[in-house]
Amino acid sequence: MIWAEFSDSLKWFFGAIRRSDAEKQLLYSKNKTGAFLIRESESQKGEFSLSVLDGGVVKHYRIRRLDEGGFFLTRRITFSTLNEFVSHYTKTSDGLCVKLGKPCLKIQVPAPFDLSYKTVDQWEIDRNSIQLLKRLGSGQFGEVWEGLWNNTTPVAVKTLKPGSMDPRDFLREAQIMKNLRHPKLIQLYAVCTLEDPIYIITELMRHGSLQEYLQSDAGSKIHLTQQVDIAAQVASGMAYLESRNYIHRDLAARNVLVGEHNIYKVADFGLARVFKVDNEDIYESKHEIKLPVKWTAPEAIRTNKFSIKSDVWSFGILLYEIITYGKMPYSGMTGAQVIQMLAQNYRLPQPSNCPQQFYNIMLECWNAEPKERPTFETLHWKLEDYFETDSSYSDANNFIR
Ligand code: AMP
Repeated sequence: MIWAEFSDSLKWFFGAIRRSDAEKQLLYSKNKTGAFLIRESESQKGEFSLSVLDGGVVKHYRIRRLDEGGFFLTRRITFSTLNEFVSHYTKTSDGLCVKLGKPCLKIQVPAPFDLSYKTVDQWEIDRNSIQLLKRLGSGQFGEVWEGLWNNTTPVAVKTLKPGSMDPRDFLREAQIMKNLRHPKLIQLYAVCTLEDPIYIITELMRHGSLQEYLQSDAGSKIHLTQQVDIAAQVASGMAYLESRNYIHRDLAARNVLVGEHNIYKVADFGLARVFKVDNEDIYESKHEIKLPVKWTAPEAIRTNKFSIKSDVWSFGILLYEIITYGKMPYSGMTGAQVIQMLAQNYRLPQPSNCPQQFYNIMLECWNAEPKERPTFETLHWKLEDYFETDSSYSDANNFIR
């Protein structure tokens, strides 16, 4: 009996998947009205949510817990297990938007090929094993190519301008970067450092940088739901860096990459520390050090002390870029003017299309006192739960979005 129940629930229990991923799964064309799944809340451990497809729209309900361990949407009717809960709402909608139908179909997104397991011990690879196929872009430190490794595996190859960094510094940093693994961080696979130009080989992201994407035709069509989703994905990658006590130092839309299936990943973490920067457009010079001033927290500019809290400041600027479809922050102002204005408590104004709730998150990131800024963990759950405004169940209108 227990096993029968367990295998039944396997069909509708999707574990700790993100709310937006639940939506993507439910909106898959083969699902019909009533398709549903139950997921574990990422932000509030031990809590569950029900997501249901209703006429092309996904609705989410928070399943509440009884102190004694039961489950309910309304105290009027409670259940001791999730199976009982599902079985009740499969027979009658009883206040839900629609009676539960079939469990949501699981779509499998293919995992990108991971080169890294083959290069665990030998990650300085022979540059002849890399074929450069197509130039994808050029950044301030060199070029980025789509490449093929061993004639089989698509990769991105960053070729660095000779002299853009000291190879020893880079190798030290890259050693750490290689061990940072998270679905929302660009995975570093291998390097070629024995001759110039240095190659950095990473996972390939088909749609290039978030900044270019936001400014493109496709990017200009996205709406708040997707904008919040992008921000949540970046915050998730950054929360991982935070948990590993690692600092990005150059978080900005230009350093977030866009993959297929609306996947966004943080790139270039840690590289800012080893680069000798000379791009005056973004990286302005101040007391011998060069910084992307408009993205950098005031205390990091003043003292050159970077912390995860200065990354949080940059995240606030990244939110501005996301909501304005890639506008230059503080446009028309020089870096020096920005520094001066920030010291007088000036902050980027609320863009016209930006909801107050989103702007409030930006303002929290720009708290003058670094300690008062939120953690990335908090930012992550705030963004994941952005649309969950009301967790209470009311029989008339009981969904949380
Ligand atoms: P960067 O030197 O990091 O500023 O990169 C320059 C451009 O190359 C970016 O704006 C992207 O369009 C592209 N690019 C960088 N890294 C990747 C990657 N891993 N996959 C695909 N495109 C990339």
